[in-house]
This record gives sequence, structure tokens and C-alpha cells, in this order.
Amino acid sequence: MIALLFALQVAVAAPIPTFVVVRDGASTSSVPVTISGGEPSVRADALMRALKGTLITGTNLHYTLALPRARMDLIDGIPFAKVDTVTVPLTRAPQVRGGQLYLPFQFVSEVIPRYAGGYFYDAAQAELRTFTVASATVRPAAPNSTTVNAAQTKPAPVPTAGPSTASATPPRMIAATKPRVRKLVVIDAGHGGPDRGMTGPIGNNPPWFVEKDVTLSVAKKLEAVMRARGYDVLMTRTTDTLIALYDRGRIANANPGDVSVSIHCNPPGYNNAAGARERGFETYFLAEAKTEGERRVQDMENESVKFETGANAPKGDPLSFIITDMAQNEHLRESSDLAQTIQDGLIEVHPGPNRGVQQANFAVLRGSYMPAVLIEIGFGSNQSEATYLSDQANQRALARSIGDSIIAYLGHYESRVGGQR
Ligand SMILES: [Zn+2]
Repeated sequence: MIALLFALQVAVAAPIPTFVVVRDGASTSSVPVTISGGEPSVRADALMRALKGTLITGTNLHYTLALPRARMDLIDGIPFAKVDTVTVPLTRAPQVRGGQLYLPFQFVSEVIPRYAGGYFYDAAQAELRTFTVASATVRPAAPNSTTVNAAQTKPAPVPTAGPSTASATPPRMIAATKPRVRKLVVIDAGHGGPDRGMTGPIGNNPPWFVEKDVTLSVAKKLEAVMRARGYDVLMTRTTDTLIALYDRGRIANANPGDVSVSIHCNPPGYNNAAGARERGFETYFLAEAKTEGERRVQDMENESVKFETGANAPKGDPLSFIITDMAQNEHLRESSDLAQTIQDGLIEVHPGPNRGVQQANFAVLRGSYMPAVLIEIGFGSNQSEATYLSDQANQRALARSIGDSIIAYLGHYESRVGGQR
């Protein structure tokens, strides 16, 4: 991510004018470009005036650029902008200095042309020009403008890189308008390294069921299923390593996938005979935990945070802040659909019982810009379920079922999105 942002910065840095002309038909206005700490910036208020937009100052360092055809939400000090449903990475954060909000020059060269609808940046003339946009179909007058259509059509992807100039090809934004693009599935094997997850079965000493090993084994089998069916896969881990909980989301977001699936085994509510009897499978999607049981699972899974260094703690993580603040609710509906599809599929292969689709506020799900679910494939605390989950053939059957459901969900999603055009 750091390297990527650096690359973006270099790409933007080359042709920096001292001011930018905003040309709207016959009328022009100019916006000064100031250099601060070697970084070119424009004042948000001046740019909005030139673009006939409004700079809205919200609470908690929030700002909105209200343009005629787009709204962009920003947070002072956070290097992301939210444009409608798309989260756009910035070369660096917008910053307030002397009571004024300064935007990185990238807004002029890239963000406005790409997302605001109807603007083209001519780097040679240092001019930001308007052109006419038809309401339904964008007839591009500039290479960058095709992305406007893509951005409005498919809400999920976050552009991984977007070098600034007009010749740049936005990698995933434009994908939605192409006939066929390989889908990327992010697979997260829960826990790892010193974080073993839950162990069991209850009453066994030493315990022989270790969650982190089973989640990795099932995740790898799911990976094989997806690759065999022609999907790209990003694994958050492939070995017995600890990935910080918030880094799991970060890994996924640096490589925006079409869905994200996290595999876990259930911890028992009580470490006693009653706990040992609990069994079954459930699939979670992101929401505030509702019931006592859901909250318990959430707390147990979020325990992983204690294995992580302070650097990854949720409070100090600007990414988790912006995710929570802006992107959290975007994919709730999709995630809920995905969870239901997976749960319905597992009924066919898992001895059960079916514990249903649940909601919880998992950190690992909170870090995702894409539809994301967490599957508890069973209770390692229960003797017979631990035996079932440890069996390679059973793991393959679970992986196949989950894979089938992901594919069914993606097909369903694609047809819904396609139906809008
Ligand atoms: Zn777990």
C-alpha cells in the first residue's frame, strides 16, 4: 500500500502548474496550486467555487465537496475520498491548514475528472474543462470519463492504483464495463501463529483440535476449488502465521476482491458439559451483534486483537476509522445474501444443525470494502464435530459447498447488476 501510494505520488508529481484554469464553456476561473512540504495542493473552497460546487464543513473533521453531479466525502488527515459508493485512495490526505482545507493536486488531475462527471483535465494546458454528460449513458469526451459510468454501475471495487494522467487505465473500475473479467475471491483462514483460535474438544487434555490448523486446511481446499473454476484467489495467509486482524481487511482492500470469506470454527459458550454438546454451523455478516450468543462469538473472534501489536490496534488505525465511518454499511445487503447462500449450501453437506445466518460486528469483516462473511464451520469443542471437521474428505466437501455458493452468489449478483443497464 505504501509503495503504491508512493508510485501514485510520483506519477502525479511531474507536471504541476502554479495554477489551474477551470473552463466551463466560455467562462474561466483560476485556482492557485500551492506547494507545501514539497506537495502540490489546491484549496478546497477555491476549487469548489470554480467548479460551481459547495464545500460543506461537517463535524469531526468531515468535509463534503458537493458538485453538480457528485458528492465527495473527505476526512481531514485520511487519505481516502468517498464518492457515492466508491472509496477512492488518495496520494495523501486532505489537510486543514490555517482554517482552510487543502486537497492534494490529484483532485484536479484525477479525482474530479474521473469521478465528478463531465470534467476532463488537460495536463498540457493545466486546464480542467467541462464537457456535456448525457444523463443515462456517458459519451466520453475524454479517456478518463468512461470510468464515471463504471463507477455508477458497480459499487464494489476500489481502484488499487490509478495513476493520474489521462492515459492511465483504471484497473478495476473499468472492469464492470468489459464483457468478462476474472473475479477475485479473498479467502481468510482464521487465526494463525501464536493465535491458535479455539481448541478442543472439551474434556480432552491435551486438546487435539486446533482452530487455526483446520481453518487453514479448509481455506486451502476452498482456494483449490475456486482456482479450478476459473476464479482468482487472494489468501490472507497460506502458512501458520499471525496476520493482525486489521491487516486482514487491509490485505483484502489493497487487492479489492468481489467477495471475502473468512473461515472459523466455533468456540463454545461454556467450557463444560453443556458447551461440549453445542454443534452446528453458522454464517455471519457484518452488523451490530444482536443476541447474547452472537455477541459471545463476536467477542471470542475479536480476541485475536490481543495477539497483535499496538500498531495494529483498532483505535489508532485510520483505515479502520474510515471503514467504520464510510464503508461499513455499503455491502450489508450483499453480505447478507452471500451469507444466506453459503448457509443454504452447507445444509446439504454438514451434519448440522443449521444455526442460521447471524450478524456480528467482527473486526475482520469490518475491514472489508466488499461483500464479506465469516463462516463458523462447526464446533471444535464437540467431540464428534471436531472429528468431522478434522477429516480431509469432509473438509473438501465443505470447501466445495462454500465454493459453489460463492459462484452462485456472484452469478446472481452479476445478473442483478447487468439488469440495471
Ligand atoms: Zn475463530
